[in-house]
Order: sequence, then structure tokens, then C-alpha cells
Amino acid sequence: MTDAQPSPVLPVVDDVDTGEFFAAAARGEIAVRVCSACRADVHLPRENCPQCGAFSREWRVVPPLGALYSWTVVEHQVHPATPVPYTVVLVEVDGTDGVRLVGRIDGRAELEIGQRMEAWFEQVDDVTLPQWRPIRTDEESTA
Ligand SMILES: [Zn+2]
Repeated sequence: MTDAQPSPVLPVVDDVDTGEFFAAAARGEIAVRVCSACRADVHLPRENCPQCGAFSREWRVVPPLGALYSWTVVEHQVHPATPVPYTVVLVEVDGTDGVRLVGRIDGRAELEIGQRMEAWFEQVDDVTLPQWRPIRTDEESTA
């Protein structure tokens, strides 16, 4: 019998097409790839723009804010490092062409479609993962 904790599943953070997303997260920023030719946001990040076909590796920092697009509660555990229940959220990021990012909230979160969300940055081993949590309306209005 061992007390060792299961290793979390972590993304590759030095990929040529997605590495800057995680580098920005390590700086406490949300970044999205943008086409240097037509300025469209290119999400998921890829080598060429789906709008105009140009090849581009440019990124831009966007607000760490968004609106809840959808969510689901996971009740069936699929990995020992991620206990259930937890809520997977899909957030449409402010100031983008509809870029949606995924996050995890522990437990069964009380949520509403369209509610305001803010990013925070979870450190797991040497990887920084952007996560999302609800903003209480009275907090945002006084910020
Ligand atoms: Zn383009």
C-alpha cells in the first residue's frame, strides 16, 4: 500500500502552435492566436488562419473575463487525480471573435448561462493552467 498521490494529466506546454497560450498563463495572462493578415482570432491555435489561409504565429493578450457559454457536471471519475464531482465550464472570452476556453470548478457549481466569469491561474507542478470562476455581479460592478 502506498500513499503516493496520482499524477495529474497535464498538457504539452512547449508545442509550436499552443506553447504561447501556456507561456502567457504562466505570466498571469490569457492570450489567443490572431491572424497577422486579417486579424481574425485563430482558435483553436493552428498554423494557418481558417478565414484567409495566411500563416501566422502572432498572439494577443485578451481580458481575463468572459461569459459562461455552457457547462456540465462530471459525476463519473475518469482519472484518479481528478475526484468527482466537478464542473467543466466553457467560457466565451471578452474581446474575441467568440473564442471559448474550458475550465474546471470543483464540485457541482451553481451557474447560469451568460453569467460573468473571470480567469484565475492554477499552478500544477511546473504548468500553469488557466481556470474560470464566476464573478459575483456586485464584485464586478465595484471593480
Ligand atoms: Zn486571416
